[in-house]
Amino acid sequence: MDCVRVRDAAEHVMKMHPMWQGPLAIPGGDRQSPIDIVVRKSIFDSELKPLVSVYDPNTCQQIWNNGYSFLVEYDDTTDKSTLKGGPLQDNFRLCQFHFHWGESNAWGSEHTLDRRLFPAELHLVHWNSDKYSLFEEAVMEDNGLAVIGVFLKVGKRHEGLQKLVDALPAIRHKGSVVEFTRFDPACLLPSNINDYWTYHGSLTTPPLTESVTWIIMKHHIEVSHDQLAVFRSLLFTSAEEDVQKSMVNNFRVQQPLCGRAVRSSFSPFLQEAQSAEGDKHNH
Ligand SMILES: [Zn+2]
Repeated sequence: MDCVRVRDAAEHVMKMHPMWQGPLAIPGGDRQSPIDIVVRKSIFDSELKPLVSVYDPNTCQQIWNNGYSFLVEYDDTTDKSTLKGGPLQDNFRLCQFHFHWGESNAWGSEHTLDRRLFPAELHLVHWNSDKYSLFEEAVMEDNGLAVIGVFLKVGKRHEGLQKLVDALPAIRHKGSVVEFTRFDPACLLPSNINDYWTYHGSLTTPPLTESVTWIIMKHHIEVSHDQLAVFRSLLFTSAEEDVQKSMVNNFRVQQPLCGRAVRSSFSPFLQEAQSAEGDKHNH
């Protein structure tokens, strides 16, 4: 695969969003995100350790509509909510989480698995507090950020997510902020966080800096269609604007891999072998 950027309809759509109209800090790096994860080409790395996330719900502060997504923001002035282990050498502090979603359930995620799209994707953003003193500093540096990605599928209602969904009508317009406290982000992780893919990439919103260790969960979480419908009732636009625009399709188009390795903490080959063995016994 070469490193030519792929242009498609989705990119055209995103170019129309004001966020993509200004000059980009990193217009054409070769470690950009998101990517398609080709499951059979990912490399099992037995050295990848389990992830250790310790989140203090009391560090949760507010939720705001930034005109592209909604951000649930955490107090990151101390090491109370941190992520370590997995592919990470350092301690990373949680600063915010947000989602990307589509206008229908057929698409919306930024990463894909063997080209398979999910209706939404959660990103938990952490910065390296061992090496840097502020998010703003870490975001510009190598090994500055660690982002956990979790795919959302439509199914049964997610009880943990509902508290968040209930807060969304208060931040319908761009620029609105409300207090939002005592939310444990761990409730949005799949029950098994030890199976993941990891690769070096970038932010998927400007400044697109290539500072991110991505950790993409193998296991998805389930949310209801109605819960996602409330995401879609948010607006890209502020209350003053004449033409209101629904907050949907707030994902970046996929970027070329450019020779990067995607490592997995689990072995797809072993699992296939085991399930083939299971089939033999069953038939
Ligand atoms: Zn994101």
